[in-house]
Amino acid sequence: GKARVVVIGGGFGGATAARTLKALQPTLDVTLVEPNPIYTSCPFSNAVLANLREIDQQQFRYDGLKGAGVTVAQTSATAVDAEAKTVALADGNRLSYDRLVMSPGIDFNWGAIAGYDEAAAQKMPHAWKAGAQTVLLRRQLQAMEDGGLVVMSAPANPFRCPPGPYERASLIAYWLKIWKPKSKLLLLDAKDAFSKQRLFQNGWAELYPGMIEWVPLSQGGKVTSVDPATLTLTTEFGSHKAAVANVIPPQKAGAIAAQAGVADRTGWCPVEPVAFESTLRPNIHVLGDAAIMGGMPKSAFAANAQAKVCAAALVRLLAGEKPQEPILINTCYSLLAADYGISIAGVYRPDKGQLADVPGAGGVSPLVAVGGLRGQEALYASSWFHTIVAETFG
Ligand code: FAD
Repeated sequence: GKARVVVIGGGFGGATAARTLKALQPTLDVTLVEPNPIYTSCPFSNAVLANLREIDQQQFRYDGLKGAGVTVAQTSATAVDAEAKTVALADGNRLSYDRLVMSPGIDFNWGAIAGYDEAAAQKMPHAWKAGAQTVLLRRQLQAMEDGGLVVMSAPANPFRCPPGPYERASLIAYWLKIWKPKSKLLLLDAKDAFSKQRLFQNGWAELYPGMIEWVPLSQGGKVTSVDPATLTLTTEFGSHKAAVANVIPPQKAGAIAAQAGVADRTGWCPVEPVAFESTLRPNIHVLGDAAIMGGMPKSAFAANAQAKVCAAALVRLLAGEKPQEPILINTCYSLLAADYGISIAGVYRPDKGQLADVPGAGGVSPLVAVGGLRGQEALYASSWFHTIVAETFG
């Protein structure tokens, strides 16, 4: 009969994989399992916090995938049986597969920060899965008095979207400067360095002098506990009381990955670097944030690129052929203001069982921008977003 591929998770990795599989091999039987009828994109959700976008501009349906011949099962995967090659669904059905693709994104390590659990996230939103959390954080910012202290906490590596916390700090400052100019933002960080650091810090000095204070690990940046009742964040060095608190907790692969036996002790999923097949369970391919992808960061750009590579490899594997060695690209744009963008790009290829950085390829925006480059990069960021959501959701 027809070869069957099941895809768990309809985000940037999973939806792209399903669409690409159907495009490359229309006779394949492709089922996407995703509980939400509407996907809310994290990329550009920091602009929602700054009132530059509305949340519905972040939302996409699965009609494009259905139109492309993908069967969409609107439910959760609850268990994977790697031996029987089946996926149990929350709606009671069970799907058989020849190959399984998993792109379940992240879950949070609740309790890694004492006091930060799901209930605390209603008071101190993470907004690291876009949607209701994004809207909650925006509402809290809007309700804050001018002069209030916004406290953010960023996790140690690895985590979803390495430049994301710093883009968020920038865009919150952008909004504060206009609407609550006496306010300040304290960014407590569980590490001593971050993505595009000099570009961000130079931009903050230029655009928001004195507004953003970044506290690295070595100066007491690591938040060890929180008290949601008083919006207090406690570090190894002392406590900070916030008017608005945004806690971005440590993360791991989406829970179904551990259930399926494809996550290791780190909480993330090791894969080989050609078809992204799990090194722990055969015939299961893991994409995007959930996977350990060597030098590649956890980004929507990366998940989309990995999904296209994986789909092409699966078509070959299902035909009994060997997949081709891929070369992958990632670019992460960040906005520091509505018209101020920066980027980092990398190129990756398999090397010694991992996806390794190709030396000399890629790079970051220049530290000194001439000829309106920052404005241009903000436009590139917006073009990138429109392209990626069109590729992913149709
Ligand atoms: P996701 O997109 O999270 O998709 C996972 C899907 O799996 C979800 O729809 C979920 O419902 C589903 N799922 C989970 N468990 C199950 C289950 N058991 N059964 C069925 N379905 C399940 N990246 C960029 O490239 N550029 C950016 O500018 C950018 N900005 C960002 C800004 C912020 C604030 C944040 C938080 C992230 C940003 N990212 C950005 C990162 C990007 O959002 C992620 O890297 C990307 O979403 C990863 O795709 P994914 O497919 O791995 O996971």
